[in-house]
This record gives sequence, structure tokens and C-alpha cells, in this order.
Amino acid sequence: MIKIKSLRSYYLEFPLIDPVITSFGVMKTRPCIIIELEDFNKNIGYGEIWCNFPSDAASYRFNLLNSLYLNNIIGCEFSNPEKLIDKIADTFKTLFVQSGDIGSFDNINAGLDCAFWDLFAKTKKIPLNKLLNTESQKHISVYASGINPSESYEKITIARSMGIKAFKVKIGFNHSLDIDLLNVLTDYFSNEEMLMLDVNQGWNIDEASKYLKILENYNFSWIEEPISALSNKDEFNNIINSTNCNLAFGENINNLDDFIFLGQNKKLKYIQPDLTKFGGISLINNLSKKIQSNKIWMHFLGSGVGLLTSAHIMSAINPSAFLETDINVNPLRTNLFKNELKIEDGKINFSDDHGIGGPLNFDTINKYLISSNI
Ligand SMILES: [Mg+2]
Repeated sequence: MIKIKSLRSYYLEFPLIDPVITSFGVMKTRPCIIIELEDFNKNIGYGEIWCNFPSDAASYRFNLLNSLYLNNIIGCEFSNPEKLIDKIADTFKTLFVQSGDIGSFDNINAGLDCAFWDLFAKTKKIPLNKLLNTESQKHISVYASGINPSESYEKITIARSMGIKAFKVKIGFNHSLDIDLLNVLTDYFSNEEMLMLDVNQGWNIDEASKYLKILENYNFSWIEEPISALSNKDEFNNIINSTNCNLAFGENINNLDDFIFLGQNKKLKYIQPDLTKFGGISLINNLSKKIQSNKIWMHFLGSGVGLLTSAHIMSAINPSAFLETDINVNPLRTNLFKNELKIEDGKINFSDDHGIGGPLNFDTINKYLISSNI
């Protein structure tokens, strides 16, 4: 039995010189909330709570974690992390339903679920990926993400210097499709490389139908979130079945049934859950048994804790896929652990450390710390 002795949390922000621009707004900092869960045997499990936007998302979730969750987690005992967070959060679930703020609830639960699994792997003294699949390889290939259209060439060049062979560029701004950009991008890349486009829900159904017709003339590996994640099942089916383009959805899906519905569509090859945003490792573990696991290409755009957790899970369930990795400078991604998180030959390589490894790098934490509960 594992018993939780303490939960330490850190809210960090890395200020951006070049803000990240998306079809739904601008990010001036890269925030993250990191959890350290410690048991009575000095094992520490790490988790990350999704908090990218709006700008107060991180402070709000950090405060909820410490005001509502903390006392329900200290002293908690468990022998299996599956569904543990559901039991813990059951006492205050109704509060979130009443407030309509179920998203923050999902995000905090997801981060804690990851920390429970990492702690569990550490008590078993095995790497996290081996816990889920004893045959897991010790690396995962990545694709470069977080690329604004105006800096595509520069960012793709940086990614190539790390051996990365797949890149995703943001489009869909102002309900438009920039044909010049498509032509430029097509000229950039070789047959051995993959190029994807991310609309970030920037088009309505009619725009998506119109623009996907044009995109069928190009060779992009997938077009991500061409329509709102709030679209109904008929709208999803219609858009998926009406185009020859490969589409991708998932980072804004927050319901297991919807993941299964999309995963069961034979034409849809890419499902992109974010384990810091909804469901944590428990969801991915569950989903990979219900749909073809080679469809699960995980979304991620946060710090080193969530990236390394995602990398372990991808290597366990879909080892030939590419993991989304932000290509922009962010020490909260690369220098959050004592061991720098490097991309070599287009891959993240794992050590033989237990869980996702550790310890955290407190030079980085102290430099970018906004709040902690210690
Ligand atoms: Mg996306």
C-alpha cells in the first residue's frame, strides 16, 4: 500500500519575447503547474496540470489545487492508481458541476492522475512506460509544434538541426486559408518529411468544407481541428467522411465516449488526447484498449513533466508514432529536471530511471517560480 505523505506544487511562468499566436489568442508567457507527490518511502511522483490559457488559468488552478484538493490527498492510501483520482475528487465533484467549471476540474484531476501513476511506477522501481508495456522501447520520435506561419522556415530549420522530420504549422487565422503559405510550405519539405497543419478550431463548418477541398490538392499528413470541438457527432462524421484530407481531433475532447466515437470512425487516423488536460494516464490506458492504439498520437504543449510523461505513454502504446513537442525556447520544458530534456536524432531518449525519472532542477524552478505551497 502506498501512502501519500506530502503534495508540493509549483506554479511557474517563462516570459516569452516572441508571443505565441493562435487563431484564438496570444500567449505572452508559458505557464505550468507541477506537482510533487511524496510517499513515506521518499518516492516522488510528478504530474503537470494543463493551464495554458487564458492568462489567469494557472493561478486559478493552482489555488483550487491547494484550497480544495490538498487535504483530501495527504494521508491517502492506494495500491492501484486506476480511478484513484475519481474517488478522491468525488466529494467535491458537485461543486464543479454547479459552477459550470468542469474544465478546471478535469485539468487538475488529469495532472494528479499522472502523479499517482508516476509514484506507483517508482514504488515498483520500473520506468513508467514499462509499467504499461514491458516491451516498451526507450525512445519516441517527436514532431515540431508551436510554429507560427510567419516563422515557418526558421522554426523548421531549427527542428531539422535536431534530426526532426515532422513539423506542424498553425493556420486558420481570421477564418481564412493562406494559399501562398501552402505553396511555400510545400516547397520547403522533402518526401521523407511530414508536414501537418493546425487550424485550432478556427473555421466554421462551411469554411472547413470549402478549404479542405483546396487542401486535397496538397500533401499534408493531417489537418488538425478544422472545426470546433463542440461540433455534434453528425458534423464530425460529415466533415471526416466528406474529404480526402486526413483530419485529427482530440486535444479539446473531454469525454471518453467522444474519444471512442471518433476512434471508431474508420477514416479518422489521428486521435490526440492531452494527458495533462483530460483523463491523465488512466484515460489513455483505457482508450488504448477500446480503439486501435496506433491512432493515438498524443497532444502536448507544456512543460518537461507533461512532455516526458506523454513520451513514456506514447512509447508504451504507439511506439511508431510521433509525439507533439513545442519547438520554441522554453526552459520549463528542457531544464525542469536535473537531466536536460534533449532531442537527438529527432527522438526523446529515456534513461533507466524509475517512473519518468527526476529529480526536478530547483535552479529552474526558483528562477521562474510565481507561487508554491511550501
Ligand atoms: Mg492543436
